[in-house]
Amino acid sequence: MTKGLFSTRSLFENPDKGPEATLEALRSYLPKTEVHVLNQVHSDRVVNADDISVDEIPEADAIVSSDRTKILCIRTADCVPVLACSSNGAYLGAIHAGWRGLCLGVVKKGLDAMKSLGAQDIRVFIGPAIGPCCYQVGEDVMERMKGIARVRSIRGAYYVDLWSAAVFQAKNAGIAEHMIHVTRICTSCYNELFHSFRRDARDSGRNISLIGENSWSLPGLRVG
Ligand SMILES: [Zn+2]
Repeated sequence: MTKGLFSTRSLFENPDKGPEATLEALRSYLPKTEVHVLNQVHSDRVVNADDISVDEIPEADAIVSSDRTKILCIRTADCVPVLACSSNGAYLGAIHAGWRGLCLGVVKKGLDAMKSLGAQDIRVFIGPAIGPCCYQVGEDVMERMKGIARVRSIRGAYYVDLWSAAVFQAKNAGIAEHMIHVTRICTSCYNELFHSFRRDARDSGRNISLIGENSWSLPGLRVG
């Protein structure tokens, strides 16, 4: 049984304190669980949580595991968090996908890595990110995204739908459309709920997306 969960509680005061502090905070709430946080660099590098030590924070933008007791974490502030699990819960994946990572195919590569471990019937959850309502880009980004994402032109300004690029890549990885869930919540529009780099720049915190099969809870967590 898969449940959608979200919390409006901050791990700490803004601005973002980085991956080390995030890992430390999550460990304080989940002391019995192995949590993995990435040093995200807008790459297409995928790591396997089962191949690294519990304290390592690898430079990567996707992480997979065939150990259902672990929790995988992605930190975002407008980029797209993509969480995935096989329907039997045995395989997990978490991907950080901004426009650079999407251009490199990071979503497809992360899902392909899960499949190469043996994951079948993968469900994909595409979380809150800056939406096509707010994600205005310059001509350079538009040119690089137009082949992989929906792009609109409104009075000479370009708006990119990052969710559409994540969906296209999930489909290219062989995920059936009905297994792909898109929240379509814009981090920039919903400023009471989410951090947004585009809105708050250097003062921005980070939204934390977690996936793990075991039962666990964080303070303030709401089931939605
Ligand atoms: Zn918006």
